[in-house]
Amino acid sequence: MEHPTWPCPTCGQDTEFEQPTCIDGHTEDGGECPEWACVHCGTAMISGDIAPAAAEVWHRAA
Ligand SMILES: [Zn+2]
Ligand SMILES: [Zn+2]
Repeated sequence: MEHPTWPCPTCGQDTEFEQPTCIDGHTEDGGECPEWACVHCGTAMISGDIAPAAAEVWHRAA
């Protein structure tokens, strides 16, 4: 799966994000875990907080 690229506030540039293993039970009922982590610095982002345009691109790519 291709990693989405979002602007990371900690890195100060666009970086790739990956979805860490969900430990909060988001996926237990078949849902999507909204949590993403920067592959470079580990900053956590919630998909709902990311610019809608970027999220749309990601959904089309998936
Ligand atoms: Zn980062
Ligand atoms: Zn989760």
